[in-house]
Amino acid sequence: MMKKLIAGNWKMNGSLAANDKLLKDILAGMGQATCEVAVGVPAVYLAQCQILLAGTSIDLASQDISAQESGAYTGEISGAMLKEFGVRYAIVGHSERRQYHGETDEVVACKAQRALKCGITPIVCVGETLAEREAGKTDEVVKRQLAAVIHTNGHCISEVVVAYEPVWAIGTGKTATPEMAQQVHAVLRAQLKAASEHADCIKLLYGGSMNAANAAQLLAQPDIDGGLIGGAALKAQDFLTIIAAA
Ligand code: PGA
Repeated sequence: MMKKLIAGNWKMNGSLAANDKLLKDILAGMGQATCEVAVGVPAVYLAQCQILLAGTSIDLASQDISAQESGAYTGEISGAMLKEFGVRYAIVGHSERRQYHGETDEVVACKAQRALKCGITPIVCVGETLAEREAGKTDEVVKRQLAAVIHTNGHCISEVVVAYEPVWAIGTGKTATPEMAQQVHAVLRAQLKAASEHADCIKLLYGGSMNAANAAQLLAQPDIDGGLIGGAALKAQDFLTIIAAA
């Protein structure tokens, strides 16, 4: 059976002191995790966290990656730069990037491609807004978002991780029920199966108010292979409980 992946997304939170404590507390409490674990930290803290995580079983993730290789792109961070800091995963197309930074499906697909070219596994986020869900467009939206990534990445698609994050569930305390999440995961799995014979090995994460109390039920669904955790990843005990549930 494929190992589950629990990935924290710290978003724009943390400080040198807070990161140090959080990672030390997680490492002290983790023991032999049976799942894979990663933390997505703000770019300025990659160097700090690379040192704190060296030789441990927690992988480092970035929260974004430039779609460009190098050059005159002020403020951007390239895949090659992320690699130098030991980054294993790059979150791409998070709904906050799509919403506040105008990232289109095409940009997200290019970012995933750039990550793959640099030997970084993209965690590609897809998900519908509340208005889209209420209009009955959930499947259409997530399929369109994933189709762009499949189209651009073709035969490499089995190398990506996909995270289904309903926008209305992010940071709101409103979680999709395990059944609702599973339903969308099954749609995504079917779409991946049509594109790759290795679709069963592609990790499909759920994200959106996953926490210590609801993680076990979500992770028990057949097509939920892990979680992308925001708020609960900032509290060592909560994050550890989710890791234990996986
Ligand atoms: P949340 O965030 O767990 O705080 O809802 C998840 C995410 O945005 O990745």
